[in-house]
Amino acid sequence: MDFQHSDKVKSLQKRLNAFMDEHVYPAEAVFDAQMDAARESGNRWQPAPVIEQLKEKAKAAGLWNLFLPESKYGAGLTNLEYAPLCEIMGRSHIGAEPFNCSAPDTGNMETLVRYASPEQQQQWLLPLLDGTIRSAFAMTEPEVASSDATNIEARIVRDGDHYVINGRKWWTSGANDPRCQILIFMGKSNPDHPNQHQQQSMILVPMATPGVKVLRHLPVFGYDDAPHGHAEIAFENVRVPASNMLLGEGRGFEIAQGRLGPGRIHHCMRLIGRAEHALEAMCRRSLERVAFGKPLADQGVTRERIANAHHDRPDALSRAQCRAQDGHGRQQGRAPGNRDDQSGRAEHGLPGDRLGDAGARRRRGQRRLRPRARVREFAHAAFRRRPRRGASQCDREHGAGASSRALNAREIHRRRIWRADFRAVSSADPGAQRRITHEIQCVRPRGGREQSARQP
Ligand SMILES: Cc1cc2nc3c(=O)[nH]c(=O)nc-3n(C[C@H](O)[C@H](O)[C@H](O)COP(=O)(O)OP(=O)(O)OC[C@H]3O[C@@H](n4cnc5c(N)ncnc54)[C@H](O)[C@@H]3O)c2cc1C
Repeated sequence: MDFQHSDKVKSLQKRLNAFMDEHVYPAEAVFDAQMDAARESGNRWQPAPVIEQLKEKAKAAGLWNLFLPESKYGAGLTNLEYAPLCEIMGRSHIGAEPFNCSAPDTGNMETLVRYASPEQQQQWLLPLLDGTIRSAFAMTEPEVASSDATNIEARIVRDGDHYVINGRKWWTSGANDPRCQILIFMGKSNPDHPNQHQQQSMILVPMATPGVKVLRHLPVFGYDDAPHGHAEIAFENVRVPASNMLLGEGRGFEIAQGRLGPGRIHHCMRLIGRAEHALEAMCRRSLERVAFGKPLADQGVTRERIANAHHDRPDALSRAQCRAQDGHGRQQGRAPGNRDDQSGRAEHGLPGDRLGDAGARRRRGQRRLRPRARVREFAHAAFRRRPRRGASQCDREHGAGASSRALNAREIHRRRIWRADFRAVSSADPGAQRRITHEIQCVRPRGGREQSARQP
């Protein structure tokens, strides 16, 4: 599987990294100070001015709405192309919003691009794309296990030219933010439909509608995530015009299918960026802290922990999932003409003989993989790749057969460190290469890789 980034992505990575270095990282402390000041003034639920300034700068730099796939509104990146950019933004706790790429707005905007009417787009999508308002997604309910969304109980009932909404939601991220003006609400409009996946609808609910009551914010591990927050909201006889319905009654699951897949992967990629950042902090700390006469970086257990932490990053899996998503999952709610990647190429007879490729499987006479199986296959391929790369590099540097030699415990430990190093050196991101190579140097065995590697 080819994970090399395209020239377009490499150029965006470069610009994004430069922007993060110049503007975002220095603004982290400013943001924290502004939020502290907001707390002292008695109201944490207000936007930090520094974020609004960053948004203007990112817009001017053309680093805006990168999340949007092919559409007249956005950058036109596939998931696979956007994922490494998410990783860069995720490195900072304020990293996504300056680029108008933060959840849940990205998923909501994508939903509006694909499923909203022109009038709905005019009213809600354009200000969201412009970053002047924010949005939230209200699906999860306290009363039912919401990971299985067929359980959702909130009701959307038609009444003349309106729908009347009743129910209670929680974990509605972003609803505490005063800039949040619109909710995408999921509930049951057709509870008696024989197909349980056609009982739900999604409908637009302006926050200012009478009957929408934000009850409280829900902390996560003690953090309030202000000014964003995660709200519990009561909906009591909320009346919205019938024209607020998205796509049509009973089509909620169809929309959810298109919305949630990419959104979750983007979260994962941002978290990988965050984990990278933490790893770097660990490396820096291990260089500064001295115990028993030497820096922690020179203690074996610290080196092993750092190497393990780096090696265990699941980025290959996430990229594999992105590719699978680009190739299949995201298409399900899309017009056939918009299909991209494997399935599209296979349908149009274009070359491509990768594992899981629908066309390739057909040519080999194999059964077509279901989406979940595709992800699994890609993931296996991605993970298999790592030891192979390490091994071949090992062979190159230390002679044929070195990689197949039986490894004693000491050597396994060394190989973990090499692998971390190889991953850094072979990373397609030059910024990451620079940073990680530099940092891993602190955990490389003394005397250099070659010398320690040749020891029996
Ligand atoms: C920080 C945060 C932000 C969120 N933001 C939003 C938001 O903006 N909008 C929104 O609608 N929701 C949001 N959620 C809610 C989130 O989507 C739900 O928590 C999630 O869907 C799980 O639903 P639940 O909490 O009802 O758990 P339940 O469905 O009650 O799950 C209970 C348990 O079952 C397990 N489980 C679930 N599915 C399976 C499975 N297939 N196999 C095995 N075990 C399983 C779970 O791990 C869990 O331990 C947010 C949650 C958090 C923590």
